[in-house]
Amino acid sequence: MALFVYKFGGTSVGSVECIKAVAEKIKKARDKGDDIIAVVSAMSGETNRLTSLAAQMQPEPSDREMDVLLSTGEQVTMSLLTMALHSLGCSARSYTGGQVKILTDSTHTKARIREIDDTNIKKDLDNGRVVVVAGFQGVDENKNITTLGRGGSDTTAVALAAALKAKECHIYTDVDGVYTTDPRVEPKAKRLDKITFEEMLEMASLGAKVLQIRSVEFAGKYNVALRVLSSFKEGNGTLITYEESEMEKALISGIAFNRDEAKLTITGVPDLPGIASKILCPVADKNIEIDMIIQNIAADKTTDFTFTVHRNDYQQTKAILEEVCESLEAKHVTGDDSIVKISIVGVGMRSHAGIASTMFKTLADEGINIRMISTSEIKISVVVDEKYLELGVRALHNAFGLDKE
Ligand code: ASP
Ligand code: MG
Repeated sequence: MALFVYKFGGTSVGSVECIKAVAEKIKKARDKGDDIIAVVSAMSGETNRLTSLAAQMQPEPSDREMDVLLSTGEQVTMSLLTMALHSLGCSARSYTGGQVKILTDSTHTKARIREIDDTNIKKDLDNGRVVVVAGFQGVDENKNITTLGRGGSDTTAVALAAALKAKECHIYTDVDGVYTTDPRVEPKAKRLDKITFEEMLEMASLGAKVLQIRSVEFAGKYNVALRVLSSFKEGNGTLITYEESEMEKALISGIAFNRDEAKLTITGVPDLPGIASKILCPVADKNIEIDMIIQNIAADKTTDFTFTVHRNDYQQTKAILEEVCESLEAKHVTGDDSIVKISIVGVGMRSHAGIASTMFKTLADEGINIRMISTSEIKISVVVDEKYLELGVRALHNAFGLDKE
């Protein structure tokens, strides 16, 4: 007998039939003798529906009221699932985030969990009940309802698993695990049996949106064994865990990509101390996230400075740079918002040389021009023209043997 946290995403609870199927799954685990805490998302589409209702009241509704509104989506599913469990003769009780008491800070719409009071949950589990918790929400010190940001139910689940020392946290979703790359781009993509927290963080932050990034950080920090599985298909899914020697065999675990990139360059910048901060501070001041940064060595006492931002921030960043360009007496601002980033990710990279050259040669053989490169210990990213995304991902998937068993 062990304690598991099961989290069911929006599609897994998207209809009456789906909620009933979830109840059956929980009942089965109970019959085996396991204790279950079920964390639920809102029914699929519900959070978006509520958001659009709000937009019809006011262009920029108050964050506090948004949280009151959005938290209701999860409250619907938690009670329906509990009723479905009752109808199967399964003892169960539901809790909102506030009722549990998942205490968060007061940053409405993206609050962070501070503390979880496990008293009620423990009592229920001891009494043989399934505990159903509304995901994505908590309460601040002043009893205001807060939410944890889109996809936040994943974080609720991992936080509960950490607090109650669950054996595993299962994330039930509409895909049956984490893949070597997006199967819509490369149909030969394979499900991974295991991936490390670090790799998963890189994959997730690069656009493999299976899990909320914060939930993976949380799981890594508190060593929660996290498993991504399908609600609709049997199987073991993908276990996200610590690095093990067995995993050293794989050089590359996956290929991630991000379509929403744009790059900007400011040329002829004086090569002096403080220039990088003069360029980037005004951008950061507008809360624009900067990703890759490249500064060339100066040949003639001036240098070129290039960086990438999210495509939505392109126009605004360009306008900021035009001003910076003038004040620094630099030459030009140029940019391109039809670029993408492709990255190879793998902890095996740490102990093997030649990975970068294989990557670059593979792209060269396909005639793909690399516009920018950046590396970390377990990742190499390149920026290429948008039109090469599919070709590049498939070529790399093949070159690193990810389509093989
Ligand atoms: N319902 C929220 C959302 O759609 C939270 C979640 O499902 O994780 O983002
Ligand atoms: Mg989700």
